[in-house]
Amino acid sequence: MTTIFGKVIRREIPADIVYEDELCLAIRDVNPQAPVHVLLIPKQEIARLVDAKPEDQALLGHLMLTAGKVAQQLGIGDAFRLAINNGAEAGQSVFHVHVHLLGGRPFRWPPG
Ligand code: AMP
Repeated sequence: MTTIFGKVIRREIPADIVYEDELCLAIRDVNPQAPVHVLLIPKQEIARLVDAKPEDQALLGHLMLTAGKVAQQLGIGDAFRLAINNGAEAGQSVFHVHVHLLGGRPFRWPPG
């Protein structure tokens, strides 16, 4: 089932796109939790991380490598955090898998 991110990918609604390639988009989060808060979104619609299949391995790896590249591009390459929320109780609100890239402020551990 398509989500708001599907609409972003199909350009049906606007987004602040900071990176795009054939496999994914990186957009600025509309409700940023850090000075830099970007979402890496695969163009393929996968609802949750646990719904990914073995054949999606390269795509998931691509998101990780791209996160590092986009972090460098946005000037937070030395300190950033990646997060994937899987399931509503873990904070997932958009059921199209995505990686949060956050940076530009200190982060505590463990996360809340
Ligand atoms: P999650 O809660 O992990 O599913 O993350 C969804 C994220 O998408 C939240 O941080 C929202 O602020 C963000 N978000 C929702 N709609 C949009 C949108 N149209 N453009 C950019 N970010 C969005």
